[in-house]
Amino acid sequence: MNREIQIIRSHRRTIAIEVRASQKVVVRAPAYMTDGEIQRFLLEKRGWIAKQLDRMQSRTDSQEPPLTEAELRRLKAEAAVDLSQRVVKYAPVVGVRVGRITIRQQKTRWGSCSAQGNLNFNCLLMLCPEAVRDYVVVHELCHRKELNHSRAFWTLVERVMPGYRTQYAWLKENGGKLIQRLGQCGKRDL
Ligand SMILES: [Zn+2]
Repeated sequence: MNREIQIIRSHRRTIAIEVRASQKVVVRAPAYMTDGEIQRFLLEKRGWIAKQLDRMQSRTDSQEPPLTEAELRRLKAEAAVDLSQRVVKYAPVVGVRVGRITIRQQKTRWGSCSAQGNLNFNCLLMLCPEAVRDYVVVHELCHRKELNHSRAFWTLVERVMPGYRTQYAWLKENGGKLIQRLGQCGKRDL
């Protein structure tokens, strides 16, 4: 194996191999183990190591590239129109009034609703299916009536959007991947 292998000796009693996402292999070994013993161990485990490296590689390959600043600007412009229309559609259904709508790029949330009724949405919603956008809009609108995630809140969401669990699950499953596409610039608002 020609790749970089880091060996860390310590007062541990067992030997362990870790394959990192960066494809680096780290071996943690007891202090008394010789280089020869460690090499023999690595040779024995080479099949397992190769499999882990393969897995890490395919994980990296399936990642979508980070969004560029231009792409983010376009998503924000689209989101401002699209999500406002959805708010206009669903606010009467929920039976609430809203204040300002702002669009941001965020790593931690899809939407929020202030006590004053101002709504904030994540521009990455434009990369989600339409039904998911509907769900997030309905979710925030329902917060105009119920400020927490109580049973009453979810009952209200379900009344407005009976199939919401599917969209909720979609976000849980795919949201992380989308947020990763913000790359390093995610914390800063354009
Ligand atoms: Zn909420």
